Amino acid sequence: MSDIDISVVLPCYNEQDNIMPLITQITNALKPLNKKYEIVCVNDGSTDNTYKILKLNKTKFPEIRIISFTKNNGLTAALDCGFKRAKGNIIIMCDADMQNDPADMPKLIDALKYYDAAYGWRKNRQDTFKKRISSKIANNFRRMVTKDNIHDTGCGLKAFKKKCVSSIKLFDGLHRFIPILIELEGYTSTQIEVNHRHRFKGKSKYTVANRLFKSLYDLFAVKWMIKRHFRYKEKSDE
Ligand code: UDP
Ligand code: MG
Repeated sequence: MSDIDISVVLPCYNEQDNIMPLITQITNALKPLNKKYEIVCVNDGSTDNTYKILKLNKTKFPEIRIISFTKNNGLTAALDCGFKRAKGNIIIMCDADMQNDPADMPKLIDALKYYDAAYGWRKNRQDTFKKRISSKIANNFRRMVTKDNIHDTGCGLKAFKKKCVSSIKLFDGLHRFIPILIELEGYTSTQIEVNHRHRFKGKSKYTVANRLFKSLYDLFAVKWMIKRHFRYKEKSDE
């Protein structure tokens, strides 16, 4: 059994200017909780100095763990790896680009006293107009198809009890549907309003074409999973 209470999973792809300011903010948010935490940085084949910077700061921040991919595999793969390597009973995923605010982490953790999962809800999104519109269309269309009640499935800030992520199987692109997959397994969840910030450093890795159309396509796979999910109940004894 591990003595870690909380694992923060940070998928990092070319975030050299964001990663240490973010880790400093995570430290400020989590230290006062007096819990044991680790920061699992999954370096998704960065070609900038992300890895070097993390390595240099490991002595100053002993909570940092670095896992590096041999090449870029995409956000879902980075999250999947981080979830599997996480030692904590509580897992928090957070984008590494400073758009999510670590100051929101304690309230998500607090919600896990009552729910299995707590999802960030960016009511006041600080993204480009194009990105906000494409996300609105995708969210509305998704809700129509899956009939779920998740407002902001794409928010990078989410907290779960470990059992939630251990019981789901991710495929490339499915990070956008994590709340639906967790709900299918019968776990409870809540949505909590969180702060959202502009990306000041580095570039977004997604465009309307590689986000909207891919996620619409993936939606049909998720619809299929919902339809074919086992719902049997046993009534006989052995
Ligand atoms: N990311 C990653 N691998 C990728 C693309 C993105 O690990 O192939 C990480 C990225 O470093 C960031 C998070 O996923 O921490 C969200 O990416 P981004 O900010 O580009 O997405 P957006 O905010 O534009 O949706
Ligand atoms: Mg971002």
